[in-house]
Amino acid sequence: MSSSRGSSAHLVLRLLALQLLGCGLSAAAPSPIIRFPGDDTVPKSDKEVALHYLNKFYGCPQDRCNLMVLKDTLKKMQKFFSLPETGEIDQRTVEIMKKPRCGVPDVANYNFFPSKPKWGKNTLTYRILGHTPDLDEEVIDDAFFRAFKVWSDVTPLKFTRIMDGEADIMINFGRNEHGDGYPFDGKDGLLAHAFAPGQGIGGDSHFDDDEQWTLGEGQVVKVKFGNAEGEFCKFPFLFMGQEYNSCTTQGRDDGFLWCSTTYNFDEEGKYGFCPHELLFTLGGNGDGAPCKFPFTFQGEKYHGCTTEGRSDGYRWCATTEDYDRDKSYGFCPETALSTVGGNSEGGPCTFPFTFLGNTYDACTSSGRSDGKMWCATTKSYDEDRKWGFCPDQGYSLFLVAAHEFGHALGLEHSQDTTALMAPIYTYTKNFRLSSDDIRGIQELYGASTDKPLPPTQGPITPMDFCDEDIIFDAVAQIRGETFFFKDRYVFQTSNFRAKPRGPMLVKTFWKELPDRIDAAYENPLEKKTVFFAGNQVWVYSANTLERGYPKTTTV
Ligand SMILES: [Zn+2]
Ligand SMILES: [Zn+2]
Repeated sequence: MSSSRGSSAHLVLRLLALQLLGCGLSAAAPSPIIRFPGDDTVPKSDKEVALHYLNKFYGCPQDRCNLMVLKDTLKKMQKFFSLPETGEIDQRTVEIMKKPRCGVPDVANYNFFPSKPKWGKNTLTYRILGHTPDLDEEVIDDAFFRAFKVWSDVTPLKFTRIMDGEADIMINFGRNEHGDGYPFDGKDGLLAHAFAPGQGIGGDSHFDDDEQWTLGEGQVVKVKFGNAEGEFCKFPFLFMGQEYNSCTTQGRDDGFLWCSTTYNFDEEGKYGFCPHELLFTLGGNGDGAPCKFPFTFQGEKYHGCTTEGRSDGYRWCATTEDYDRDKSYGFCPETALSTVGGNSEGGPCTFPFTFLGNTYDACTSSGRSDGKMWCATTKSYDEDRKWGFCPDQGYSLFLVAAHEFGHALGLEHSQDTTALMAPIYTYTKNFRLSSDDIRGIQELYGASTDKPLPPTQGPITPMDFCDEDIIFDAVAQIRGETFFFKDRYVFQTSNFRAKPRGPMLVKTFWKELPDRIDAAYENPLEKKTVFFAGNQVWVYSANTLERGYPKTTTV
């Protein structure tokens, strides 16, 4: 009896999923792909992607990465990522190459780390030279502090922050070529890099400021006023049944941007206002008064913050209608609609804007082949060609920093995809060091003498597929292979006779999935994969989450 109940529940889920798939298929008119000024992520052919990647991370010589060397180097890379070692530039290999990652090469003894260097002392200093405008300084300092603590918890190492002078580990943010000959590359792609222990640049850690730095779950915005002053926005949040991923003016007629500080605004009603120049200014002599638009400056009228009259690029406004007369001004806060990358120095989106003659009221992926969301920062992209990417989940500064500091202490990349030291960025909410990371760092510095691991925080021992009795959360056939899911891990096989590969992190394949799923299946007709967890459903085309997902199922 119980088995028939089980199967009918399964059927309901399947029907529901098919309906949801149907909803996602509304045909959008194709728009031409254009070249955005200041965009380094020009679409490249798979071969170009592969050559660039193998040169940068596997030492394949730039001009002589010919057929023979290419095949061998490609196999090395495929081995590193537990891919089938075909030596061919296949789709899965290219997918891995396109993922956001650390800029340090994967091959030992190449480029950065000629020998196994380590610090000859256990007390190290660090200094934060610059802060990204994406986050509060407090939040940044805390992220770095916690990232060092990851390593000091399991070794005798101690880290002390200094405010000036030369520290062992100098931390900074930079864009493109930033002074060390290892340029960053705009949004996504390379996220950060660090140098192995040593004098001078040794130990230094650099973060690409064309990324949107967050704590891994969207913008970190501290609200003002409202009934939740000083708390952080919760993205996404639910308002009138719709989810919002950034601050919004919806529901207000005064144009002020607001957000909810809990997920469900409709039930809890906790909110505050997002930083905006119409709410307050910083510094200057205007006593924090909001901008007054339009204002006059040198006889010209301004309807928004400007960098005119300044050489430092900071955006400012007058706090009365006539700057020439009153000389009263303040600096504009980073607004919650700030853009990332592009060519607008983080300036906010302007809605509506026109692009190729069409009007847009929200961020769009039109004109791009990579599906990234962007907006214009003036009323007309067609006239001004000023733009930036729209905020997304961003990258966790804490996780990326903890990884980079691993390099700064002498660790190389790990082939264990569950390790912090794996080269590809993977967001995990409840972060724990893997046994592989702990083994690596303790090989260099020994175990901590006075800091026993609290039992609940101990390392997770990766499961062995054959030696342990594992009850899987889900098993699914996806693209001709079988996937076994257990918590945040997945094993994969294309051949039932061979031992499955893994464990790998589920998030390596489907980065938006939660730490545990209940069910998964592939819809072979649509070539889409559907996942269930709790009352939510995720639909993927290959490894890309379909827009609008996850959705909440209401059965
Ligand atoms: Zn790295
Ligand atoms: Zn650098």
